[in-house]
Amino acid sequence: MTIFDDIKELVDVPTAAHSYGVEVHRGNMALCPFHRERTPSCKLYADHYYCFGCQAHGDVIKLVQELFSLSAIESVKQLNTDFGLGLYVDKPPDMEAVARRRREIAERKAEKARVEHMYDVLLRYFTLLDKYKMRYAPTSPDDETDRRFVYALQNIGYAEYMLEAFNRYNKEQQAEVKPEVDRIEREYKRCIEEWGEG
Ligand SMILES: [Zn+2]
Repeated sequence: MTIFDDIKELVDVPTAAHSYGVEVHRGNMALCPFHRERTPSCKLYADHYYCFGCQAHGDVIKLVQELFSLSAIESVKQLNTDFGLGLYVDKPPDMEAVARRRREIAERKAEKARVEHMYDVLLRYFTLLDKYKMRYAPTSPDDETDRRFVYALQNIGYAEYMLEAFNRYNKEQQAEVKPEVDRIEREYKRCIEEWGEG
C-alpha cells in the first residue's frame, strides 16, 4: 500500500468534490468544474469521476490536482491535511540517522566536558603552587625552607607551561596529554591531602 492507495481508500470522490465546492446533484452528477455547463454531466463514482461533456476523468487525487493545479504529491498532502487523515506523507524519519546524530551530540558534549575538566585540573594545580610559593617563601635567611615552597619552585614552571600549552592545543593534542593531566590531577590531590590548600 502506498500513500496514494491510502488516500484513495479513505476519501471518496463525491465527498472530496463536495468539500471543494463542486455542485453535486442527484445521482452523484456534478456540474463539471473543468468546462462550462448548466446541466450536470460529470458523473462521480466512489473511486473516480468521468465527464460526459469534456471527457475529464481520474481518481480523487487527480480531481484535487486539476481543481487546484497541484502536482500529485501536493494533492495527496492537501487531502491528507484537509481530511485530517494523519498519514505520513513525507518519508518517515530515519530512526537510525536520528540515533546516530544523538550519539554524535552526546559524544561532543562529553568531549567538551573532558577538555574543560582537564583545563580545570591544570589551572587548580598552577594556582595551588602559586599559593605555596607566595605563602611559604622564607622571610629570612635563617628560616628553615618549607617543603611546600621547594615543591612549588620545582613544579610551577612546568605547571604554567602545561596550562598555556593546553590552551593552544588542538583536540588531538589535548587527547594526547590526557595521561599527563591525569597524573597532575593525582599529584594535585596528594598535595591537598598532605599539605592543605595553601
Ligand atoms: Zn467536463
